[in-house]
Amino acid sequence: MSTPSSAPPPKLAEIIAIGSELLTPQRVDTNSLIVTESLNMLGVEVFTKQVIGDDRERLTDAIRRALERADIVVLIGGLGPTEDDVTRDAAAAALGRKLEHSAEQEAILAARFRQINRPMAQNNLRQTYLIEGAEALPNPNGTAPGQFLLTRRGALALLPGPPRELKPMMERELLARLKPLLPPQAIKVRSFRITGIGESDLDTLIAPVYTKYTNPVTTVLSSIGDLWVHLRAQGSTEEEADALLKEVGDPIAELLGDRVYSTDNEDTLELTVGRLLRERHATVATAESCTGGTIASRLTDAPGSSDYFIAGYVTYTDQQKHAILGIPEELLAEHTAVSEPVALAMAEAARRLSGATYGVATTGYAGPSGGTETDPVGTMYLAIAGPNGASRCTRIRHGADRYRNRTLATQFTLNLLRKTLLGAIHPRPQ
Ligand code: AMP
Ligand code: MG
Repeated sequence: MSTPSSAPPPKLAEIIAIGSELLTPQRVDTNSLIVTESLNMLGVEVFTKQVIGDDRERLTDAIRRALERADIVVLIGGLGPTEDDVTRDAAAAALGRKLEHSAEQEAILAARFRQINRPMAQNNLRQTYLIEGAEALPNPNGTAPGQFLLTRRGALALLPGPPRELKPMMERELLARLKPLLPPQAIKVRSFRITGIGESDLDTLIAPVYTKYTNPVTTVLSSIGDLWVHLRAQGSTEEEADALLKEVGDPIAELLGDRVYSTDNEDTLELTVGRLLRERHATVATAESCTGGTIASRLTDAPGSSDYFIAGYVTYTDQQKHAILGIPEELLAEHTAVSEPVALAMAEAARRLSGATYGVATTGYAGPSGGTETDPVGTMYLAIAGPNGASRCTRIRHGADRYRNRTLATQFTLNLLRKTLLGAIHPRPQ
């Protein structure tokens, strides 16, 4: 806002996902997310998306309205060979155009069936009809070609439903046809992946910065213990888009500090931790109780994690904490398994048994029941043991939701390790 962009206003798009199964809990419309992401990177804003069942009349109606209010209309699915695949018919009806048989598409389809050595069914011929004036979009991954045509406001595209057919067609065929319709412009993005702060605290912190701007568009996404701030700037040149990202992104980076674990969209917390371990020639072992091995699982998700991950011990019962990790029975009896001394002893044992640079440990009441008066359900002790006898333990307490507790404990422990590796947390000498 304070740097008015000379870029033209964004083109508006509407997406219609077609298929009665998408209106049931069994199948989710994921294609529109792929389409939206691609359109956004062209500077096109999706302002409406709908899911419509396999119903010719309703669909015709919806397409007609979309063509009136959107510059770019993308229809997804319903291009199959059967009676309930009505997208071609409905789009033609909405435009007041005819469907025309394409000899070229029939030849392509026939060749495809020859190649897979199967006879072509009569109803496949339905897939060889194109809307009058439409260009076929090749589909090397399936039988239905896509379709593209220019409209009064912009363009209409028909894409196939199977995600493995839609995605390449979107990227290889549709984007190239949409680009010339759009004003020259540059789109740039900047991401912050964040942990160690709640969503509302994050928003209180950074909203004063980003709400002043409509360009870049700022999106805050949250999942359990993990946040993602995404900025997308539009400029008439790359420099202008970059300058906008800097103007809004730099103050956000400053406010967030080391809560940002990565500025790469694709990064996960475990990848960041793995990278830090590798850079510091350090290794880790886990001793998990309430997280049941999820920390080890996440740390070993990355290829090459054997460079830094040594071992994971999942010790659920007191007896196994004693038998495998050597936690003294007296310590367990005196403090119970869910306690700071036991968490620290577990982290230290993981380190000692494996020879890793760091040991991390979790123990707690994941829920939905359990807990004591002083340590109610949701209480978890997360510990790290490091070189020179230095170790540290944090206690966290959340509700009774088991999945949430285990995910948070995993995330917090990975973050404890990350901050220790960054030197942001100096383990207390014992
Ligand atoms: P269709 O050719 O549209 O009938 O769909 C073929 C396959 O793609 C079916 O398994 C659909 O459930 C799936 N599909 C269709 N549309 C979508 C969508 N929007 N998101 C994810 N899957 C879809
Ligand atoms: Mg369908």
